[in-house]
Amino acid sequence: MELSVTKVRAFSRARQVLGSMASVRRAVMSRLDFRGTGAVGGTLSSASTRPGLGLACAVCPLAHRGVYHGLATPRRLVHARAAVSSSTDQQQQQDAEEVQLVLRTSDESEELLKIRHSSSHILAQAVQNLFPNAQVTIGPWTDMGFYYDFDLEEPFTDADLKKIRKEMIRIIKKRLPMWEEEVSVEEARGRIEENSEPYKLEILESILERDPSAAITIWHTGERGDKDHWWDLCGGPHVENTGKINPKGLALENVSGAYWRGDENKQMLQRVYGTAWETSEELQAYKKMKQEAKKRDHRKLGAQLNLFSIQQEGAGGGLVFWHPKGAMVRNQIEEHWRGVHLASGYDLVYTPHIANIDLWKTSGHLDFYGENMFQGIKIDEDEYQLRPMNCPFHVMMYKNQPHSYRELPLRWAELGTVYRYERSGALHGLFRVRGFTQDDAHIFCLPSQVTDEIEGVLNLTENLLSAYGFTEYEINLSTRPEKYVGSDEIWEMSESALKEALSRKGWDYIVDDGGGAFYGPKIDVKIKDAIGRKWQCSTIQVDFNLPERFDMEYVDEENNRPRPIMIHRAIFGSVERFMGVLIESYAGLFPLWLAPTQARIVCVNDSVNEYAKECLDLFKSYGLRVDMAGGESLGKLVRNAEVQKIPLVFVVGNNEVETRTLSVRSRHQGDLGAMGAEDIARAMNQAVVEKSKY
Ligand SMILES: [Zn+2]
Ligand SMILES: [Zn+2]
Repeated sequence: MELSVTKVRAFSRARQVLGSMASVRRAVMSRLDFRGTGAVGGTLSSASTRPGLGLACAVCPLAHRGVYHGLATPRRLVHARAAVSSSTDQQQQQDAEEVQLVLRTSDESEELLKIRHSSSHILAQAVQNLFPNAQVTIGPWTDMGFYYDFDLEEPFTDADLKKIRKEMIRIIKKRLPMWEEEVSVEEARGRIEENSEPYKLEILESILERDPSAAITIWHTGERGDKDHWWDLCGGPHVENTGKINPKGLALENVSGAYWRGDENKQMLQRVYGTAWETSEELQAYKKMKQEAKKRDHRKLGAQLNLFSIQQEGAGGGLVFWHPKGAMVRNQIEEHWRGVHLASGYDLVYTPHIANIDLWKTSGHLDFYGENMFQGIKIDEDEYQLRPMNCPFHVMMYKNQPHSYRELPLRWAELGTVYRYERSGALHGLFRVRGFTQDDAHIFCLPSQVTDEIEGVLNLTENLLSAYGFTEYEINLSTRPEKYVGSDEIWEMSESALKEALSRKGWDYIVDDGGGAFYGPKIDVKIKDAIGRKWQCSTIQVDFNLPERFDMEYVDEENNRPRPIMIHRAIFGSVERFMGVLIESYAGLFPLWLAPTQARIVCVNDSVNEYAKECLDLFKSYGLRVDMAGGESLGKLVRNAEVQKIPLVFVVGNNEVETRTLSVRSRHQGDLGAMGAEDIARAMNQAVVEKSKY
């Protein structure tokens, strides 16, 4: 089924909305900082949440803040467009590119945010009406929906969800006003106790813990005294009345387990996921997008195409085995990455996977990042630490010898594998793992070089990502927070360098004022995949902290010894996660330059084998990844190649032997007719060199 084509909005307009929403979001989210985490299952991969890391992430935030942060928390919501056409394999790419309906996230539409947030209140109200024993906890909006966590012994069934939705619609139809009331702490405490809601009390206490003078607000649904009156501790915003929610745009999706405050030692709650849209067309498009995402699930495709495995039982969760085919794809990506870096003036380095614990004390990781690190390893009398980040190693290399201003900038890149503790419930395919490889680099430069260096990173980002078809980016610039290290001058210089570099590129961006880490401003880049989902990948982070902690310096023109500016950056973020995104974005159908098997020669009968083998050798001499199959019906052979998503199939029958040709079938372009093997090989090579789309 095709939906009518809606004009696609320009990214830049979406950005304006995003910018204006930033303050509302921060105000609200600062109160919900501990919103439930550790969801098991979940809806969209992007709907899972992880704890706000805050200052825990002291240095190089690349993977956690950069890679997962945007994906995971409602604080950095993304918008996406849905490709609503059902796509056959052959048409998948083309269809996906015909973007048809804009699915706005809560960040892009204040109205949708209010609708979703209000829906979560109505959900909780409906649940408490139907299940008086259910205790309410928290219920935020997500990028494309909302959820609410309940403490209730009996698990919700599908039939329960239907009943709950019906009750929600009854509440919606009553057009109950939603209104805010500011109350004193005592008043709030009293009302919560009166309702015997221990979780709410805990929320209240933690709000006060963070800010003893915080204004406490309650949001009511319905007038006091009305039998449909309900309230929740909340900072808003909400719709004026429940009637603003369109029942036809409302759906309850599923239930999963989630620990209270994301803590495995705490109560297991039931998280009900829902989604809400202004129109039923949007809801339908959203459902189609989710279906499409399910079809493309990289865990499913990874097994089907024999790309990788994660062997929970035998080896442990979150540890990836790259099988030959997946390793081939990964190798292409890494080779490309290395080539682009060398051509951009980077040096490649390798550093160890473990180091003495003292290094992690100096870097601050042990203090600020400890909860994400594995236990130490005893070696002789010393304790060693598996690395969660590569940064301190590059710093150690820098410090290994004195540096003059003339040597700077230094650009050191490493595909550095790191290990981080993730709760087992949070692990998710290639997206959330315990061992992964950052495409990391650190730039050490003079203050006067920052703008050029950042511009260089932006160019390189574009260069790398566009090879995978990611040509539209959403850029976030996060600036100085209230608490920070480094002088005002250095912050101002760095922030204006980041802005200047972005403006030289002509890239629009959203400023997240005060959203930077305490040690420096940063740029985050999101990419959009083939079905419109956005993924946080690249991060460029200026760091005033590590040079200080490690006492880094260079000799300047006047023989002074100032600190260099350190820039952390990753383009893919994590190679594993980027591969997951690629598998889903390509729906497993890799373009020629990446495909593990680029073409298959299919023999119609055994008498053509000799000629087929001759062709195979020719392709191999071109360095092309081609194999050969026969011994079964043509239909079956072609189907097999299709299942394995091999881009090209060359059929050889008696005719082809006679004319010394191959009949070419492209997964993307259909039948291309008969061509000579040499011509095909040259065309393929050309496509590989150009990294062409198919
Ligand atoms: Zn609320
Ligand atoms: Zn770093």
